[in-house]
Amino acid sequence: MIETSCYLRTQSASSRTLLRNYEALKTKMRIEEIRVRTAGIQSSIRNAFISFEEMTLSVVRIRADKGGHPLYGYGFCSNGRYSQDEIISKRFAPRILSAPPDILLDEDGVPDPFRIWDVFMQNEKPGGHGDRAVAAGALDMAVWDLTSKIREMPLWCLLSENYNGGQSNEEVLVYPGGGYYYPGKEIKGLQDEFRGYLDQGYRYLKMKIGGESLNTDMKRIEAAARVMEGPEFLAVDANARFNLNKAKEYGRAMEPLRLFWYEEPLDPEDFDGHARLVESYEPSLATGENLFSRHSVRNLLRHGGLRSDRDWIQLDPALAYGLTEYLRVIELVEEHGWSRRRLIPHGGHQLSLNIAAGLQTGGSESYPGVFQPFGGFADDIPVINGYTRLHNSPGIGIELKQELHQKILELMD
Ligand code: MG
Repeated sequence: MIETSCYLRTQSASSRTLLRNYEALKTKMRIEEIRVRTAGIQSSIRNAFISFEEMTLSVVRIRADKGGHPLYGYGFCSNGRYSQDEIISKRFAPRILSAPPDILLDEDGVPDPFRIWDVFMQNEKPGGHGDRAVAAGALDMAVWDLTSKIREMPLWCLLSENYNGGQSNEEVLVYPGGGYYYPGKEIKGLQDEFRGYLDQGYRYLKMKIGGESLNTDMKRIEAAARVMEGPEFLAVDANARFNLNKAKEYGRAMEPLRLFWYEEPLDPEDFDGHARLVESYEPSLATGENLFSRHSVRNLLRHGGLRSDRDWIQLDPALAYGLTEYLRVIELVEEHGWSRRRLIPHGGHQLSLNIAAGLQTGGSESYPGVFQPFGGFADDIPVINGYTRLHNSPGIGIELKQELHQKILELMD
């Protein structure tokens, strides 16, 4: 893994000059509008639990005024939890727009994601995270995109400088979340899909399990591993389908393969179940994409029995109160003696990729072929041997994925 300081790789001089010049802008920066729209990401794929045929997500645009010129921050929630427009438009946005403009700004006069988060979460009771966490994830992404654009820094670079001592990963481990079921052509369909990912430069791949019998799934797993370098590069995902007995049964069958990881064997909040499963499954487990707050992650750490030397936590910032909350989660896991490198954010979107680079988590999921145009990364940056690199333009990089940028512009028209 290559590590570096982001200033070595971006136009550091101009960024630093801008950082020093915010005094002059202090009275001019103002959030003027928050627009939210629903987008479809319908897909014929299904996992062990749900079909994605009716899936939607919320897209957010924040407009700020900088010296008479509009600047836009874009965000969206991750796949799997449907659009949450009403929470954003009826609760969060009015609180931000009716707040005194200055309390939303940091000492440089730039919109401050933490202050904005506190404002839109006013009058929201603790607990009951669910759909509210998803709405917050979309809105918070737009705030961070806006803030990093105002500072004229890539988001990963802003994160590195402000929250990671200037360190970052020049290359990020990425793996496609795929490996779907192909009724009637199970083995060939799966192997063809995987060969496609390998041709695109991926090395670590993930496949679905739990949608057929154990016997069928083991044949699929072995067939998938045959087209790869080996099973140690293959992760499997049960999408929280199993009870403890079934999870153990799969564990016993898969354990000799020493898979990259065994993901979401159980209900995400069955912490005791996870603690029992690790007693009989020695290789890596992964879970967390369906936990929605730092409080749930704390419960997982306290009661889930996960092992800090091999297991993975996959909280999705765009489903779980955003990057602002994710920074608190990093603090939390480190307080519990875990390395942030055991975090590997779910979602396959550019926010998670920026986080993986700038905060040096263990990698990022990738969706090169599904949940389009919201899944996947910048158009022109290749994946090589399972790793990808980051962009050097301000913000999250949404404008560098042309189809996504175009889609958002159309939605906001
Ligand atoms: Mg998963």
